[in-house]
Amino acid sequence: MSQHIVVIGGVALGPKAACRFKRLEPESKVTMIDQSSMISYGGCGIPYYVSGDVSDASELCTTSFHMLRDPKFFNEVKGVDAHILTKATRIDRENKCVEVENVQTGEKECIGYDKLVIATGASPRKLGLPGEDLKGVNYVANPGDATRIRESISKGEVGNAVIIGAGFIGSIILDAIGSQPLTLTVVEADTHMTPRMMNRAGGDMMKAWCAEKGVRVVTETRVERIDTGGERTFTPEQIAELARFDASEPRDEALYEYHRVNGRQTLREIATKLYGDLRLSYILVAANPKVASDTDELLQDQEIRIPKTLAHIVQEGDTLEKIAEERLKDPDRVPDIVKANAEALGDPPTLKPGMKLEIPLLEDAR
Ligand SMILES: Cc1cc2nc3c(=O)[nH]c(=O)nc-3n(C[C@H](O)[C@H](O)[C@H](O)COP(=O)(O)OP(=O)(O)OC[C@H]3O[C@@H](n4cnc5c(N)ncnc54)[C@H](O)[C@@H]3O)c2cc1C
Repeated sequence: MSQHIVVIGGVALGPKAACRFKRLEPESKVTMIDQSSMISYGGCGIPYYVSGDVSDASELCTTSFHMLRDPKFFNEVKGVDAHILTKATRIDRENKCVEVENVQTGEKECIGYDKLVIATGASPRKLGLPGEDLKGVNYVANPGDATRIRESISKGEVGNAVIIGAGFIGSIILDAIGSQPLTLTVVEADTHMTPRMMNRAGGDMMKAWCAEKGVRVVTETRVERIDTGGERTFTPEQIAELARFDASEPRDEALYEYHRVNGRQTLREIATKLYGDLRLSYILVAANPKVASDTDELLQDQEIRIPKTLAHIVQEGDTLEKIAEERLKDPDRVPDIVKANAEALGDPPTLKPGMKLEIPLLEDAR
């Protein structure tokens, strides 16, 4: 008996199920819908598209005979009625129909079914971090995400990139992004890279390989917040710069001073005392990843690392006042920045996009 099979989702499982049904029951009608514009693509090719090894996203959807797996291909070759940009918005099980909406026109219709396959896949887990929805924060789950990342890199908008998570996907994306002309830092909460796939020795080998390629990997470090310059929050660029204060690193007197806690103190109090502003306590949080927050009371005699400087990559539209306000929370500290970067800035002091400045944090670094 002929029936109508409706498949929601058209990437891996959806097309597989739709074509299999059509082969088993050629007389049945099979309809496949997907809300996005690309279907039947190979997710494993996404990193190669980000890196540029795959030049066009449509190559992710081509067969080994160079046929594009688009709705026309499914209609004509597979006998599956495929629709893109079509989102399932409601399922009415009683009346056996799916309400769908054309995502471009908003037009709605109901498609009746005898059997329904839900092949809607997974979506990236949100971390619940403050700032995770800001512009410049991307997930990598589909070719659309990959296109956004590729475009912003090729437009020169990305000086520093940070990848949160060094699992399987994070690691293949780091390989793709690490080959681009930018500074890349990877932040991983666990003790080593790809913790669910490899032991510590394997993860550390990967970390050493990354270091050789100029990619910094910071383990045992949890990103707490992301921001584009608000109070005591991390911008991706700040994380990239601050991540150099890795807990596992040997003492480095050139980068930071050491403060021994005497009495009851918090990182906020130390930031206020040494940096002159409690809003800069986020720097101490990043430099001391084992300390949970800037308001936690520290242990007597605990040693705290105090970064002496903060790096800033000059962006289009930056002024010295803006940098002083953003990085030091004090526009009057322009002279400190000029003094610390006299050679690079020249006379009169001139900013150039891409230029790296050392922002002096401590009195004696100014
Ligand atoms: C960067 C990256 C690299 C990867 N590398 C590998 C690899 O090397 N090897 C490997 O085996 N796997 C890899 N994967 C995983 C692989 O891509 C996925 O396992 C696979 O795509 C899952 O297929 P799926 O059909 O179940 O779901 P999905 O691929 O998630 O497809 C589901 C589709 O359903 C659509 N949809 C959702 N809701 C609706 C709705 N209401 N209406 C209409 N459509 C809807 C979505 O838009 C999506 O297009 C990788 C994934 C990524 C992101």
